[in-house]
Amino acid sequence: MVFGHDYKVTRQVTYHVQEYTCKNCKKELTTNSNGNLIELTPKFKEINDVLERIHHKRIVRINKLKKPISLKGRAEKNLLVFNH
Ligand SMILES: [Zn+2]
Repeated sequence: MVFGHDYKVTRQVTYHVQEYTCKNCKKELTTNSNGNLIELTPKFKEINDVLERIHHKRIVRINKLKKPISLKGRAEKNLLVFNH
């Protein structure tokens, strides 16, 4: 990353978006939707808060719903195979 700074991840917002703080000067950066590092302004902090909420909600929903659905789908596929 940028020479002279020592950035550490301070928040994992989504799989792709992280917030970084420089250990040396406390400057904050974040990854934007294009994967570029940009300065973490209050506006982007707000965006990241929203992203984080949506992201965590999605994980909870996937954990709750995905398993029964995929098991059911597999069972139906097996039934079709047996019928033929
Ligand atoms: Zn720095």
